[in-house]
Order: sequence, then C-alpha cells, then structure tokens
Amino acid sequence: MSLQRINAMTVDVEDYFHVSAFENVIQPSDWSSCKPTVDYNTRRLLDLFDQYETKATFFILGWVAEAFPQLIQEIANKGHEVASHGSNHRRASTQSRDELSTDISRSIDILEQSSGQKILGYRAPSFSIGKKNEWAFELLAELGFMYSSSTYPIEHDLYGTPEWPRFVYQRPEGIIEIPIPTLHSQGKNTGIGGGGYFRLYPYFLSKLRIDKYLKEERQPYSFYFHPWEIDPKQPRVNGASLKSRIRHYINLSRMERKIERLLQDYNWSTMQDVYLIEDRIKPDLVQKNILSNEA
Ligand SMILES: [Zn+2]
Repeated sequence: MSLQRINAMTVDVEDYFHVSAFENVIQPSDWSSCKPTVDYNTRRLLDLFDQYETKATFFILGWVAEAFPQLIQEIANKGHEVASHGSNHRRASTQSRDELSTDISRSIDILEQSSGQKILGYRAPSFSIGKKNEWAFELLAELGFMYSSSTYPIEHDLYGTPEWPRFVYQRPEGIIEIPIPTLHSQGKNTGIGGGGYFRLYPYFLSKLRIDKYLKEERQPYSFYFHPWEIDPKQPRVNGASLKSRIRHYINLSRMERKIERLLQDYNWSTMQDVYLIEDRIKPDLVQKNILSNEA
C-alpha cells in the first residue's frame, strides 16, 4: 500500500430481498419468510476487512438490526462506524415527512441500542434525496445527523441529481452531504461509486476510473456495495424484470475478489475518519468544495 489519500469504504447492509430492483415482486410483509443471507455475508466482509486492517462505515437497515442485533454489536466492536440506511428500505422520495421521520427514528433507536455508538450518518435507500424532497435534509438535521450520503449526481432511471454538487459540501440545513463520486466529461457525469457498474466492468477499468478521479479531482473517493453482492449462491427472486435481474445478478461470483483488490490497492477508512474529525467537520475540505461546486 502506498502513502496516499485515505478513501471511505461503505457497505449498505441489507438483504437481497430488500433491494429497490425487487420492490414490485417482494413486499415488506414477505421479508420475514425469505431466507436471510445478510448475517452470514456481512460476517464474511468483517473477516475480509480484518484481513486488510480496514475500517469501514456500515449504513445498516433498521430491519436488519432488529433481526440480527448481535451482528451490529460485532460491527461496532471491531471498530467500524455504524450509520443508518433507514428501517424499511422505502425510498425517501416516496414517503411523507412524518413517514420518513418514523422510519429513520426507528433505525436510530435500534442501531444506537445495539452498537452503543451515536449514529451520525444516514444514507437514503437508492440515493433518493433530490430536488422534490430537499426538505429531508432539514429532517436529518432535526434527528441529530451530522452527515448524509444520499445523493448521486448522475442521470439514472431510478435516482440521480445531476445538477447538484459532485463533492462533499455543507447544506444550508447544516448537514454535510457526501455525494457518490462521479467523473465529469463532455458535460455529463458518470457514476464511479460502486454498485452494478463495478460488478459489470473488469477490475482494471474500475481502477482506471478511480485513479482518474483521485488524480484530477484531488478529492477523497468513497465506495459503496452490499453484502449480497459477494454471494453468488443467494436464493433467486422470481418474477422480476429482465433488467432488474441482470442488474442484480451480474458477476456476483467475481465481486469478492474485486473487493479484495480494492482493499489491496487503496487506503480506506470510515466516513467519519475521512470527512469529519472528532465530531467537527474538516473545514478545509468542505470549504474548498463549496467554492469549487459553485464555480
Ligand atoms: Zn439500499
């Protein structure tokens, strides 16, 4: 490993039956009858992170914490950051303020109880904060969050805020927003933060894109993925569209090795380590980005 910038490693802790791509075929009332894989797969990730002495931020679904409180305790005991991914994996953009408030509060309670940590970070399911529900940031501030990573400044059929800032910045509501990383060329942003594209592309291509970002933008990079992505043997979901199935199942068998290579090739830590210091925002980083985002 070289002495280079530290980047943020993040895991959205949910099971294969929670994902937005399957929301039309599996209802929340069906979740308890699905065979869970999240406990086993997250423990495999904990071992992998141990092997490379890596700390990460886990954005955990309240539903998972209620089903597997010991898992959350173990994540915290190993020195990782516990953060919230809401409770029921409903997109923030499809909920009223009261519904979203109830959903997130419930996750905070169970996550703080099981981890013993104060929950400072939130990631909306499917990066679902945008122009139409900008009020969500005010709610996050009221609920005691310090930062969010809920926006993806790209054009996408399911999410995206291409006109919003690409780098970490402070919202007027006081929340530090950490957008998912993108490359910008010919007037268009392309996502490079993880997810389906990371599974689709060969590793060298993803690495090229990450290196380009680090070199040209001089910003910390953050990566996201899910425990089910390292599990090619997960139960198959029937009835979903071809597009959803391709998105979900492509290259699952190659993912674990790719994650391992990321851990070998870059320095990683938690969102708090990378973007905040001792409960105080890194002023240089955020200030610089307010300026560069406006430019
Ligand atoms: Zn999610």
